Amino acid sequence: VLEALNLHRTYGDTEVLKGVDLSLDRGEVKALLGPSGSGKSTILRLIALLEPADEGEILLNGKQVGVTTNTNGTTRPLREAQLAKQRRDIGMVFQRFNLFAHLDVLHNVTLALTEVAGMSKKEAAETAAVMLERVGMGHRLKHYPSELSGGQQQRVAIARALVLNPTVMLFDEPTSALDPELVGEVLAVMEKLADEGMTMVVVTHETRFARRVADEVALFDHGRIIESGEPSAFFDDPQHPRTRQFLSHLH
Ligand code: ATP
Ligand code: MG
Repeated sequence: VLEALNLHRTYGDTEVLKGVDLSLDRGEVKALLGPSGSGKSTILRLIALLEPADEGEILLNGKQVGVTTNTNGTTRPLREAQLAKQRRDIGMVFQRFNLFAHLDVLHNVTLALTEVAGMSKKEAAETAAVMLERVGMGHRLKHYPSELSGGQQQRVAIARALVLNPTVMLFDEPTSALDPELVGEVLAVMEKLADEGMTMVVVTHETRFARRVADEVALFDHGRIIESGEPSAFFDDPQHPRTRQFLSHLH
């Protein structure tokens, strides 16, 4: 359902992505590991259509997204209104929860439903409440983000990303900013989502989670995928020296 082909991205004179391919079938979970600055967040931002690739293409459900084709066959970036439509198909969860501080939990989740999907307030509230129940936050609808723990905020952020029924969910180090004792509750929600068949790309340092939940694990370094494979092969029998070196620093 998701195919990223030969993605390139340069900032100034630094090539941050040097031709990355990433494809996921429906229901597949892919974990991306890699050192700081290797381009993990950048690839997620491109897939989320938050910024354009310099080269390469992204297909969602078999259709190229982010660009439109000119009459002469070349492509150009889509206009903002059309990009916004396509972004509805992609849910993104950031390291910092990025909730709206001035809105309570329920309104953080209903906003996209009323503003983007055009739902009535009543229907949006019902839909959002069901989603918040799924992430274990059904009892905190009237709380403001500042009144919640980091783990609770992140679970609200997950509900907010899920509520438009995205084709794929992207997670960018969703537990890195959390106190250790709050990591588990967020990973549990993500694991449940994976079990329910959600297609997910997860940038994470949680190797135990990656091993248990991911169908495939990949190592990112210097803007390239160095090695990827099933968790057991990747973790227990890495083929690339860079993978061995990276993993040796984790344990
Ligand atoms: P981390 O593990 O620290 O989150 P990362 O793998 O997510 O790292 P990216 O955030 O994708 O890495 O950044 C890759 C490189 O691109 C870094 O050197 C970063 O400084 C650079 N970079 C990212 N975004 C921009 C930007 N908007 N403008 C300029 N440089 C950028
Ligand atoms: Mg990052």
